[in-house]
Amino acid sequence: MTVSRVPTRPRSKAAAGAATAGIHYQITVANLHAHLFGITLTIATPRAEQVLRLPVWIPGSYLVREFAKNLQSLRCEQRGRTLAAQQSDKATWQVHCAPDQPLVVHYEVYANDPSVRTAWLDATRGFFNGTSLCLQVDGQQDQAHSLELCASEDIAHWSVATGATGQALDKKGFGTYWAKDYDQLVDCPVEMGPFWSGTFTACGIAHRFVVAGAPPSFDGAKLLADTQAICEAEIRFWHGAKKTVPFDNYVFMLNAVGDGYGGLEHCNSTALICKRQDLPRLERNTLAPTVHKQPEGYTTLLGLISHEYFHTWNVKRLRPAELARYDYSRENYTELLWFFEGFTSYYDDLLLRRADRIDNPTYLKLLTKTINGVAQTPGRKIQSVAQASFDAWIKYYRQDENTANATISYYTKGSLVALCLDLTLRTEGKTTLDAVMRGLWSRCAGGPMTEQDLLAVLAELGGRSFAADLARWVHSTAELPVAALLERHGVQIHQEPDQVAQQLGLRVKENGGLFIHQVLRGGAAEKAGFASGDEWIAVQPVGTSAQGAWRLQTLDDLTLYAGNAKKLSVIISRDKCLQQLTLTMPKASQAVRLAVQDATKLNAWLGPQSAVA
Ligand SMILES: [Zn+2]
Repeated sequence: MTVSRVPTRPRSKAAAGAATAGIHYQITVANLHAHLFGITLTIATPRAEQVLRLPVWIPGSYLVREFAKNLQSLRCEQRGRTLAAQQSDKATWQVHCAPDQPLVVHYEVYANDPSVRTAWLDATRGFFNGTSLCLQVDGQQDQAHSLELCASEDIAHWSVATGATGQALDKKGFGTYWAKDYDQLVDCPVEMGPFWSGTFTACGIAHRFVVAGAPPSFDGAKLLADTQAICEAEIRFWHGAKKTVPFDNYVFMLNAVGDGYGGLEHCNSTALICKRQDLPRLERNTLAPTVHKQPEGYTTLLGLISHEYFHTWNVKRLRPAELARYDYSRENYTELLWFFEGFTSYYDDLLLRRADRIDNPTYLKLLTKTINGVAQTPGRKIQSVAQASFDAWIKYYRQDENTANATISYYTKGSLVALCLDLTLRTEGKTTLDAVMRGLWSRCAGGPMTEQDLLAVLAELGGRSFAADLARWVHSTAELPVAALLERHGVQIHQEPDQVAQQLGLRVKENGGLFIHQVLRGGAAEKAGFASGDEWIAVQPVGTSAQGAWRLQTLDDLTLYAGNAKKLSVIISRDKCLQQLTLTMPKASQAVRLAVQDATKLNAWLGPQSAVA
């Protein structure tokens, strides 16, 4: 493959003859090995002082990411005459131009972020979100936009996958796509490359699944069958037998990598990342044909698929009233991420169970991990999930060594709020959370909602006010009644000794040595004086001198060398200075493990039959 500058004129015959909208973006592969997309934006009827803006964030990922830092070489012209573009802030340009003539804006975007949130381009594949590549034309956001993807010799073997509506495409998907407005344009990410592609229908809706980076052992048929089962369970969850699904096609875009994980939801597509080793394998399928024997990593991938697909309803359509209209130029605050992320997290694994992709013990194992994760986070006593949601922009998305001590995840605790609400409703016998979700969808017409809407549906279907419950679970730091509710629904709760790190109040990294990552509030490690960044070099039980201090490489080594000592002399390295600390060993703390006690009660909650009311 050669690297070449691609002419801005499209190569695709289909695209060459296509009509374009008043705002038209032409995207070329400007330089594969320099990771540069070339963009030509044509505005048919600009304003005299036309303002252009690049978003600073992408909906679904609540962090100001400053996409404009990757935009370069911007130049404007009208009828071949170069115009000056005045940059007025980090992401805004103003162009003085004639309002009755098309304004053409050329620029490049550096695309070298492997995440699902920005853009990527190299010789193996291309991927982008419109928020990274498409300048917003001030005053014309609500008009139709078109986006033209240009083929070239460099990428002759590539195809295109996107949820966008194509209007003049070649066989591989290059050509022109249309969006009714800017929001829709940037809500349809694009995957380009020599990817694996498969299709299925779920409840009559066409679905496509593309996988970039799949190894030869990849079992595409299994991934399609499992995804189809999940999609059908979720469509039936929201709509039962009614044919009112709010999208008519859907695309999964999965990038399989050596190491990575993530997903981002969109109106009729999702971009996903997983480890290659977590994909279903042909040979594994032959050796272990039952779905319940699948490797843990594949269950995690199915959970991710289930999660992002559930968002198609819960956050892309039913969404916080504050985010009814996105402001791409700044933080958009909401206290409701415990509902949109937490309740989606509750249903992602639950719907895997209902779609019969996992069994009851596997579901309880996943739930055990969530319960212990929340219990082991001291920040749950500092921050409510409503506060955690509002502060997502500066806390959840900017995690550091203090995160566990000062914050709680609106994903994990939010999912336990959903669990408590569902099991309370089921105990009282009037309704279920499933019915409440559908009631909300109906009340808010699949659009913006508030916490008051949720309370109104709960009162209507549950037969009483749930304001006090939500005030305690969502707006305070009170503990959730998880154990008591689970016991009523057929779950046995065992206590067992916690992991060593948890007993000491530490999070460590073992990377050629034992490094302290986080010191948990009130724990033995904090009392001893450990700090984030310390290297834990050696340990010696106090009162023994025969052998000197023992070198540690992993935390597991501690169980070898500490024995039953109550006090340990510890050597750490902090800023290249060796220091001695005294660690008093704590009493063994306990973690929970869940097991099936009453399968009939459990199936009434988890079983497939409760999916459709
Ligand atoms: Zn999510």
